[in-house]
Amino acid sequence: MKVSEEFLSIQGEGLDLGVLTYFVRFPACDLRCRWCDTPYASLHPEAGEATTVEDVLSRAIESGAEWMCITGGEPLLFPEFVPLVQATPCSLKVDVQTAGHRLPSMGTGNVTRWSVSPKPPSAGEAACSATWAHIPEWLELHRQHPRVQFKIPVCDIVDLDFVQAQVEEYRLLYKVPVILQPVGPSEACDVALYATQSAGYDVGTLVREVACRSALRGIRIIPQVHKLLWGVRRGV
Ligand code: SF4
Repeated sequence: MKVSEEFLSIQGEGLDLGVLTYFVRFPACDLRCRWCDTPYASLHPEAGEATTVEDVLSRAIESGAEWMCITGGEPLLFPEFVPLVQATPCSLKVDVQTAGHRLPSMGTGNVTRWSVSPKPPSAGEAACSATWAHIPEWLELHRQHPRVQFKIPVCDIVDLDFVQAQVEEYRLLYKVPVILQPVGPSEACDVALYATQSAGYDVGTLVREVACRSALRGIRIIPQVHKLLWGVRRGV
């Protein structure tokens, strides 16, 4: 198998914020979000390092992390994804970060958390429509065994209006944890602005917008904490 990078850090996104996590990043993605913050993986699969499932797991276990986060790129594109999940010992919790446009195959029953990240209009039309296409299947997986979180990037008010419409259509907030994640920053942005102004959305404005929308009551707003701590760089 090939990986783009592996590192020990804390989880900087979503419901499991702060847990000690060993990150395993698969290279390559079949989507092209405009503001993708891992282009070195999603656009450059050739840059990945060759390794084996056994070696990845051995490094993850030796790291002392409680969780292993399998991310990308898009991990569900890779045939090695299933053997990696199957071979993970139960002492290591598994979080899988996916855009949600591909569904898990058999053999992924020991995934502890599916972090599904459907994309808003600002990502581009193709990514947006592909990643909202399988919401009913993800909700059914969560109904059978609650372990899904929806982590939805938002860049502007157009995105927020779109997300609200989806939340209402699928009654998401009655069924699954939903997190709004302000987009950015990317390598081109000033990370110091992220606490108050992300690449596309002022976080304070987002909070006030959400507060006056009763349809979004119960939603969480969680920025990417690793970027606040360490800036936009790899390996954190
Ligand atoms: S789905 Fe994720 S990895 Fe793929 S292009 Fe979009 S942001 Fe990048």
